[in-house]
Amino acid sequence: MSIVDRLQRQHLKELTPYASARRSMSGGNIWLNANESPYSNSYSVDDTKLNRYPEFQSKPLNQAYAEYAGIEASQVLSSRGSDEGIELLIRAFCEPAKDKVIICPPTYGMYAISAKTFAVGVNEVPLLDNWQLDTEAVIEASTKCKVIFLCSPSNPLGSALNPDDIEQVLQHAPSSIVVVDEAYIEFSSGDSVVNWLERYPNLVVLRTLSKAFALAGIRCGFLLASDDIIELLQKVLAPYPLPDPTVQIAVQALQKSSLERLQKQVSALLSERKKVQTELESMPMSLIAESDTNFLLYQCNDAVGLVTALADTGLLIRNQSAQRGLDNVVRITVGSAAENNELIQQLRKYYL
Ligand SMILES: *Cc1c(COP(=O)(O)O)cnc(C)c1O
Repeated sequence: MSIVDRLQRQHLKELTPYASARRSMSGGNIWLNANESPYSNSYSVDDTKLNRYPEFQSKPLNQAYAEYAGIEASQVLSSRGSDEGIELLIRAFCEPAKDKVIICPPTYGMYAISAKTFAVGVNEVPLLDNWQLDTEAVIEASTKCKVIFLCSPSNPLGSALNPDDIEQVLQHAPSSIVVVDEAYIEFSSGDSVVNWLERYPNLVVLRTLSKAFALAGIRCGFLLASDDIIELLQKVLAPYPLPDPTVQIAVQALQKSSLERLQKQVSALLSERKKVQTELESMPMSLIAESDTNFLLYQCNDAVGLVTALADTGLLIRNQSAQRGLDNVVRITVGSAAENNELIQQLRKYYL
């Protein structure tokens, strides 16, 4: 028996790590598998202080995000992507081998993986057939679970949760932390729940610069919550969480001119999404849910066959068939006009 087999923590033996888009598929020249933005915007980095440790939390950055979100800087925690925010919540609130979190599948995979790495249990309360919350079941399960993860708009579904249902959960699960992951909020036609932070001390909102902001490479996310929750999470946060170049770029991305550019890029992606959706209507694929994001989710006859055939032409999309209720379902990120045209052409070839 190797030293790893002998010493590793018991609960890690059965754990399969998160198969991120970047980890599970390599190569290709058109990447429509990770919900990234096709835009690569340029920024400047001041390299004269890279010999110094960065700040624990950058005031200018948290202030800029607070202004963008319409809240106070004391309600903002910046982290290495919102994935780190998920982990901080589990580490701060859940006792290993005792506490549980609630997830509502199909949903984002990292909530369960993060819980499992800390030996925290996962209680699944599946979405209803209309992809909305089973509010009563979530509320009932909440009496035994400290943290509830909701994703709206949803990855992988694309659709948003009904805000009234989220509010029901906030009201009737007052002793649980209700996390609303808004990674795709910039693409959504609906409102953010961030304005409810004043009303519900158990609300936590997750945001990221990885999607609409087109900055997946810098690893920057934000956790928005009451001052009390932010203070607690700072106890478990690493001393220097964000690299200084990340902070510099994130601050620039939140300036007025960058936000105007963001708006234009989001509008362009939304009209591209419409184009792709219209083109795919004539193919043997059916849309799973109306999208409020930068991706589309389709059921097809043979997901493995389709994903493989496209990958052979250098075009990557993501198979979501492992998710509950999503047999033969693929997720396609909306790319640039040229990338989407290539996708449409390849699909035509595949199906004709
Ligand atoms: C992409 C994504 C994230 C992760 O964002 P990072 O900030 O890059 O860690 C979180 N939640 C959902 C639903 C996502 O799709």
